[in-house]
Amino acid sequence: MSAKIIKGKEVAAEMRAALKEEVASLKEKGISPGLSVILIGDNPASQSYVKAKARACEEIGIVSEVIKRDAGITEEELLAEIDRLNENPNVHGILVQLPLPKHINEKEVLNRISVQKDVDGFHPVSVGNLVIGDECLLPCTPYGIIELIKRSGEDISGKHAVVIGRSNIVGKPVALLLLQENATVTIAHSRTQDLPSLTKQADILVSAVGNPRFIKAEDIKPGAIVIDVGNGTDENGKLIGDVDYEAAKEVAGYITPVPGGVGPMTITMLLNNTVESAKKLNSHK
Ligand code: NAP
Repeated sequence: MSAKIIKGKEVAAEMRAALKEEVASLKEKGISPGLSVILIGDNPASQSYVKAKARACEEIGIVSEVIKRDAGITEEELLAEIDRLNENPNVHGILVQLPLPKHINEKEVLNRISVQKDVDGFHPVSVGNLVIGDECLLPCTPYGIIELIKRSGEDISGKHAVVIGRSNIVGKPVALLLLQENATVTIAHSRTQDLPSLTKQADILVSAVGNPRFIKAEDIKPGAIVIDVGNGTDENGKLIGDVDYEAAKEVAGYITPVPGGVGPMTITMLLNNTVESAKKLNSHK
């Protein structure tokens, strides 16, 4: 039987339509959600990510500002810029597009963002809150993955989730979120021995490696929910995921395609976080 395709693009469009309505009703109450993105230097990939984020904000009515600074900016100047945004009541989300030039300490910069405005969810306090299960702004890609699984209609509780990858931006936080949803979680990485023996036990398999088609159909438990976070490219430069999609969809119960699966959810959750942050920072209104 062929898997149900989890269409991230459609879920993202539904969520953005709902957020657009929410932004309009917040504006009627005098609350205008605002996101500021700091872009340093002229890295083409960063420029295109920032452009996509600004466009997505515009589509749903979030006021967005892109602050461009050249690669020669000093760390002090960048920190002062963040302080200014932290103080600005019209800014509810602050995002520093990574990577930063080598002379700037990324940790110092991310730590300077106010936790209340940390819409990327990378601040150590946000991460700490995630670990202890306290309310916080969640990192966008992992948050999007949980939304996709929930919206498939399947219960996460009690399932065995295997997460491949242990990065701070995807693997670790998605594992924590699955644990919070009462899954039994196994985290695999490059030193894991006999990975297929683990993936074959996974009711939920999340692959965040970046190694095109390395998860084969025979390594997937029949009926599993397969979430492919990988963004690799094939020999023709076409975007492809970690999972051998065509074969895997004949075994899995649910599967995300690449492109059109996890990808569109990331910016959507950034929009969601900005709206949540605006509501919280204006809860007195
Ligand atoms: P990363 O920091 O490079 O982490 C990759 C992880 O994969 C590491 O933990 C690594 O293990 C593990 N790994 C590498 N080879 C392995 C193997 N043979 N078997 C098992 N584990 C292996 O990457 P990332 O930032 O988490 O991103 C992962 C992928 O997701 C990339 O393709 C990225 O482009 C994509 N991504 C997509 C989105 C989206 O919105 N769709 C967002 C973020 C990332 P070690 O820790 O032992 O090295």
